[in-house]
Amino acid sequence: MIGKPDRRPQHQHALIQAKAIRKSFGSHEVLKGVDLAAATGDVVTLIGSSGSGKSTFIRCLNFLEEPTSGQVIVGNEVFQSSGKARRTAHERARLVRLRQRVGMVFQAFNLWPHRTALGNITEGPIHARGLAAREAESKGKYYLDKVGLGAKAGAYPAELSGGQQQRVAIARALAMEPDVILFDEPTSALDPELVGEVLGVMKALAAEGRTMIIVTHEMQFAREVSSETLFLSNGEITERGRPDDVFGSPQSLRLRSFLARYSG
Ligand code: ADP
Ligand code: MG
Repeated sequence: MIGKPDRRPQHQHALIQAKAIRKSFGSHEVLKGVDLAAATGDVVTLIGSSGSGKSTFIRCLNFLEEPTSGQVIVGNEVFQSSGKARRTAHERARLVRLRQRVGMVFQAFNLWPHRTALGNITEGPIHARGLAAREAESKGKYYLDKVGLGAKAGAYPAELSGGQQQRVAIARALAMEPDVILFDEPTSALDPELVGEVLGVMKALAAEGRTMIIVTHEMQFAREVSSETLFLSNGEITERGRPDDVFGSPQSLRLRSFLARYSG
């Protein structure tokens, strides 16, 4: 077991907070007022059926999707929709900063195929953070080592397994030194025998106190690493709490039947 502190997020000390996030696509309201708070070192997991709004919500946290209403608060910066179709230069600059503080790992890895593992990692620190190439490379190697791929710096994505590619993507996110990392089903695209190596890296990050928000269908993993688990159902969080409560004594029929589908 990973020794996560036995505590709920202290909302007044939240590093990242989402308040009453709503999102509609046309007349389809996908998120109906979702709240989340994570303090430094918290690992919040989001579970729920396909189509319940998990990806839309996690993408709202770094404004890859702009919430229709509600706020995302990171540190003491508040982000919300301006209601206008076009963003001002000032707003765009704030979103760049938001995405530096709130990194993301995607289901489909999203590596550049024509860049090496190391080249994928140094891109962001060089272009977004203005690091010198040599500094970015030593940082990139440090994070490749951390995900167990120190020997693969020169490999291209096509030469790596899916699990290795996802570990490169995690190293890429880490190299930007964000405050929070979002993961949207990071192991769903992997062959079953490759899932464990990625979950192992994520458990190690949890154990070193990284703040993470994770959409996952890996229930045993979620139960082990989470400080809080949220069950999203039709765009609303219908149950939330400590993982032993959410997984051990689900209150609703809906959550019970959802969990039964993942009990192997
Ligand atoms: P999940 O990740 O839980 O499977 P999603 O957030 O991907 O759910 O999707 C929730 C709902 O929002 C689905 O009905 C989906 O079709 C809809 N949706 C997501 N993105 C868009 C979009 N860009 N345009 C229109 N509908 C969308
Ligand atoms: Mg999704």
